[in-house]
Amino acid sequence: MKEQTYEEIIRKHPCFSKAATRWFGRVHLPVAPKCNISCHYCTRLYDCVNENRPGVTSKLMTPKEALQYVKQLVERDERIKVVGIAGPGEPLANRSTWYTLFMVHRCFPELIKCISTNGLLLAEKLPELQKAGVRAVTVTVNAVSKEVGSRIYGYVFYRGQIYTGAAGAELLWRAQYEGIRLARKLGMVVKVNSVLIPGVNDEHLEEVARAVKTAGAHVMNIIPLIPQGGFADLLPPPPERVNLMRQKLSPIIKQITHCRRCRADAVGMLV
Ligand code: SF4
Ligand code: SF4
Repeated sequence: MKEQTYEEIIRKHPCFSKAATRWFGRVHLPVAPKCNISCHYCTRLYDCVNENRPGVTSKLMTPKEALQYVKQLVERDERIKVVGIAGPGEPLANRSTWYTLFMVHRCFPELIKCISTNGLLLAEKLPELQKAGVRAVTVTVNAVSKEVGSRIYGYVFYRGQIYTGAAGAELLWRAQYEGIRLARKLGMVVKVNSVLIPGVNDEHLEEVARAVKTAGAHVMNIIPLIPQGGFADLLPPPPERVNLMRQKLSPIIKQITHCRRCRADAVGMLV
């Protein structure tokens, strides 16, 4: 089967195109529990904030269970066109992500395969992602400056070493930049999620928008902070503030406005 084109992915992926939400749905497979970084807004009791709605912890699935689940879903709902892995931890830090994607791709090559990642391992895992049929990638980028990043990330665990503070933040952004650049070069569709954290990165998001655009991202999705974990004392940004930020950044990079902050086991239509 020939590779899905950019146009086809945009037309059918409900997270990349608002029009697609009317006709097509997606399923997230919660097969990835471990993570390799620590975001201060994450409590690990909930799904990864990459794709998050707090309140209920996802049930984990094994790759086999996930495949079975996709088979049943696709049989009863032909509108499901996208199979994604978005947590509850970091998909690329879990071997179960590969097994699941490979199996799903072998059985359903026509479905769009998608992952949501913190980007730390993206560049090095791209060959495997390609083999598993992944054509759409979301990378969460909250900061491109090490000063701002060091206020958001507790640590970054990379190749057996723990990096904290500015060193961790710098390592993460470099990896994210390279991952976005190479994913785009391979013809993947790239979305960037950025959590708007009042008083921490709100003044910095314009710089983030410019940097991810330069790296090659197609669209940006600003997600208002859900105060929890180390940021439990912050107030969430009001919707007007989020909208204003989207308006301000849209001349730099196209903004997504219909994200539903889905759980790692979300399924069906977005609306
Ligand atoms: Fe939590 Fe996701 Fe951040 Fe990992 S990348 S710490 S799972 S929010
Ligand atoms: Fe799409 Fe947003 Fe839901 Fe992810 S969280 S599946 S981007 S609507």
